[in-house]
Amino acid sequence: MGKRKSSKPPPKKQAQKLDTMFNCPFCNSSKSVSCNIDHDKEMANMHCSQCPMKFECRITHLTEPIDVYHNWLDKCEEANA
Ligand SMILES: [Zn+2]
Repeated sequence: MGKRKSSKPPPKKQAQKLDTMFNCPFCNSSKSVSCNIDHDKEMANMHCSQCPMKFECRITHLTEPIDVYHNWLDKCEEANA
C-alpha cells in the first residue's frame, strides 16, 4: 500500500498567443484583420471582418502573422504607387 499515483495534472502547455489581430489599412477598423497561417501549405491569409479586403501570400516556417501583415501593407503601397 502507500503507492501513490501522482495526482498532479500534466503541465499545461501554454500556447504563446501571438497577436493575430491587426488594424485594417483599408477601412481603418482596429483589430479587425485576422490572420490564418497554414504551415502545411506554407500559405497565409488575412481578411478583414469589417470590409471585403483579403490578402494571401506564401510563407516560410519562420513567418509570423505580423510578417504577413507587413507584407500586405507593402503590397498595398506598391499597388498605390
Ligand atoms: Zn477593413
